[in-house]
Amino acid sequence: MKTKVYKFGGASVKDANGVRNVERIVRMAVNDQMSNDKCQMSNDKCPMSNGLMVVVSAMGKTTNALERVVELLDAGKEEAALNQWVDIIDFHVAVMKELGLQPGSDIRLQGEIPYDPTLPFDENYDQIVSMGELLSTQIIAVYLLKQGLSVEWWNMPKLLRTDDTWREAKVDDEASRAVIRAGWDRPRRPQIVVAQGFIGGTADGKRTTLGREGSDYTAALLGNYLDAESVTIWKDVPGILNADPRIEPDTVLIPSLRYQDAVELAYSGAQIIHPKTIRPLENKHIPLYVKPFSDPSAEGSRIAADGVGPVDIPVYIWRKNQILITMRAKDFAFALEESLSEIFDIIHRQHLKVSLIQSSAVTISVCVDNTRKVSEAISELRQHFNVTYNDHLSLLTIRGTTPAILEHAKAGRTIMLSQTTRRTARFVVKED
Ligand code: ASP
Ligand code: MG
Repeated sequence: MKTKVYKFGGASVKDANGVRNVERIVRMAVNDQMSNDKCQMSNDKCPMSNGLMVVVSAMGKTTNALERVVELLDAGKEEAALNQWVDIIDFHVAVMKELGLQPGSDIRLQGEIPYDPTLPFDENYDQIVSMGELLSTQIIAVYLLKQGLSVEWWNMPKLLRTDDTWREAKVDDEASRAVIRAGWDRPRRPQIVVAQGFIGGTADGKRTTLGREGSDYTAALLGNYLDAESVTIWKDVPGILNADPRIEPDTVLIPSLRYQDAVELAYSGAQIIHPKTIRPLENKHIPLYVKPFSDPSAEGSRIAADGVGPVDIPVYIWRKNQILITMRAKDFAFALEESLSEIFDIIHRQHLKVSLIQSSAVTISVCVDNTRKVSEAISELRQHFNVTYNDHLSLLTIRGTTPAILEHAKAGRTIMLSQTTRRTARFVVKED
């Protein structure tokens, strides 16, 4: 028996019941490990490679709420920001009380917002938004401990070393692996470690974040560093489905996938796993399970090198909040290659996420996630091109499509742009 990594997302720890369910799932894994290792007698007879790494996101919608705190502060609305902050703390205090924990003594609460108006927005963002994971993991670690489990809480900003690309920090694998391994491999380590997903820290002690929904990525990195036997993501769906059950009424579970298919689904915008999750696992042939937290013994989906592929049912993936930007040459001396390199230079510097590209004789269109950086990028692009854009768009990708499916998908929708190949169709559509 070797190390296992479990990741619980915001939806699975959205309230006190979620935390209790984490305890149930963790206890099952721990009992399993103990009986497999026949090391119930004495803890120090357990092989040190044994253990459960539990990676946790912020509770429920806490990250969105913290983002609003930063935005309000940035807009100079201090009182509204403080109210929002107090709501977030109150929510956590209520969960703690429901779980029988003592706010303030069991868990440290930060009264002041870690905000410095002299710093850039993105740097403040990371200091504030990282609080969500710091709170959720403390609650879970203390709760598990009080239930008699052998637990340790890890402070990832000190362990997962990153650069200072705020909001999208790059992980220094070598430095991180060394400290994390040292912490994991030491004698008499408690069997369960609870760690924050999504956050890390710089060499000079600043907190960083790895990009929204980045906890899956943290789980994969830890799986890689610890040579885990598997990584499991516990979700509020039965596994990887062929469509979002909130949008499509009839969804089908995909029980087995290859790494490469999972990467394609993730990059097309499937919310199920973060796109960066696969690579650290593939490197070490670590299988990834996606399982329902409401039914821990269900099979869920398994993603591995020997998975079944390609996926042979149509898969629908929505990517929301898109903006379609079209660049037109200012004169007729339009050189596609040169324009492309100019455009992508700007896009790269502004950290825009491109979801689709299309070019014609005199125009280039890119569909990107509509983030705060977009307006800055557009003004930069305007120095070189005539730029128009459409927002409130979604990108629908259908993999494994047929003519009948295409017709059905297009019906009743305003399609701004489409790209189809034999098996894949992509539509930029107006959001209604
Ligand atoms: N809490 C972060 C977010 O909501 C990270 C994650 O959930 O993976 O984006
Ligand atoms: Mg989340």
